[in-house]
Amino acid sequence: MNTKYIFITGGVVSSLGKGIISASLGKLLQARGFKVTIQKFDPYINIDPGTLNPYEHGECYVTADGMETDLDLGHYERFTGIRTSRENSITTGRIYKTVIDRERRGDYLGKTIQVVPHITDEIKRRMLRKDVEGEELDFVITEVGGTIGDIESAPFMEAIRQLRWQLGRDAVCVHLTYVPYLKAAEELKTKPTQHSVKELQGMGIQPDILVLRTERHLDDALRMKVASFCNVDLECVVQSEDLPSIYEVPVNMQRQGLDAAILRKIGIPVGETPAMQSWHAFLEKQRDARREVHVALVGKYDLQDAYKSIRESLNLAGIYDGVKVKIHFVASQGITRENVAEQLSGMAGIVICPGFGQRGIPGKIFAAEYARTKDIPCFGICLGMQMMVIEFARDVLGYADADSSEMNPDTPHNVIDMMEEQKSITQMGGTMRLGEYPCALRAGSRALEAYGGETSIRERHRHRYEFNNRYRDEYEKAGMQCVGVNPDADLVEVVEIPSLRWYIGTQFHPEYSSTVLHPHPLFVSFIKACIAHGNPEA
Ligand code: GLN
Repeated sequence: MNTKYIFITGGVVSSLGKGIISASLGKLLQARGFKVTIQKFDPYINIDPGTLNPYEHGECYVTADGMETDLDLGHYERFTGIRTSRENSITTGRIYKTVIDRERRGDYLGKTIQVVPHITDEIKRRMLRKDVEGEELDFVITEVGGTIGDIESAPFMEAIRQLRWQLGRDAVCVHLTYVPYLKAAEELKTKPTQHSVKELQGMGIQPDILVLRTERHLDDALRMKVASFCNVDLECVVQSEDLPSIYEVPVNMQRQGLDAAILRKIGIPVGETPAMQSWHAFLEKQRDARREVHVALVGKYDLQDAYKSIRESLNLAGIYDGVKVKIHFVASQGITRENVAEQLSGMAGIVICPGFGQRGIPGKIFAAEYARTKDIPCFGICLGMQMMVIEFARDVLGYADADSSEMNPDTPHNVIDMMEEQKSITQMGGTMRLGEYPCALRAGSRALEAYGGETSIRERHRHRYEFNNRYRDEYEKAGMQCVGVNPDADLVEVVEIPSLRWYIGTQFHPEYSSTVLHPHPLFVSFIKACIAHGNPEA
């Protein structure tokens, strides 16, 4: 079978959940036995979102091959279990860079370089992927960021228009819109959808499938109206109502025949509807999980999307253990030595988040100290782990001025220090220690137990600073063990205090590899410890 291409665009407003629809569709096609990948094309000029403030763009998700990408790739991986790579996250910036680099090399032989055809050709080339590491793909789902009508997404739309023409039935366009409910009129409104489809048609793209996001159920008459105004078959107008969990979306889409409609458009026999047993089993567990476990998320950004993968990893691990994890964001900037007990009261566990820069650092250290001295299960991730290490040095090793050279370059006790290979780097963006590295776990450690006895693991990184090996012996002697070490570079990747209930810090980011069907073992183990500890009286 030739590779088939599905393009997903969005209209009316942003934040409709195109990423969730793309991931759900990927899941449904996968359940039918197809080999699928999902890629995201973002219309901004940044080469990648690595340099973007989380307030601008939410979390930066890191692929195994070390690309800093859009958080939607996290949804793709969590839903489908596929491993994305740098090919799955493309920005306008990268497209232009490729074309401009080529122009500077003289590859265009004196031609004038233009948006059409040079930029659009480069977009098309990247959209037309055929394989993943040599293995042929049945479907490539391409999600285009932004909203129809944005000036900056126009070249992507033009590329899709051309590809539709070129590929014929091998390409399908799915357009996601919004149907608002007007309270005063007590009516659902289809006009924005009609306008959005018109806009798309104006660019020469006729959508095959419409997915209507809505807060209220849409009846057949309304779907019929949309179908006839937009030149789309009734069975191709699907609604995506708000659901209690994003993980219900694939099942909801399957019930309405989204995947079947796509197969019919392409001309592939639809066959039986896959049962998706393990997915349903997960959903049942999710519905049954009622007992709440309170976990504090100590971080800098009070924004749902800023720690997306950590939040999802906690939720998924909770469901796996039959509990509902109630996440309480605690702004580290607001934590002081005096109020830390109050701020973290009632918590069964504490997560200290990753991050960069000075803001909120003391609060993270107070949180680490509180967790350690009160023996509350505590998980430090990347910067969180570094704060655990600094706190231990200050309070247990007796180095009151211990610090990371990121926060204080002059500290005499730089227990966290910049990696040697980072010292000469001046460029920002894609220059950190990124992507998957191996790690060897020590026999008898809690971390090894969490990983089910797997001594050799691989996890994803995103940082410039590192545990300073000069202090390793002192830590070991004083009770903080360096139980995970990179076997090639001898860098400390996991620390733990075995005498406590659960006190583990990881230099890597386990949250990037937690999926719905395989929640990450460290999160599962952490949540188990939180359950065992229970929610203390607030
Ligand atoms: N700022 C720290 C470093 O660069 C931690 C980074 C992170 O938490 N991702 O090492």
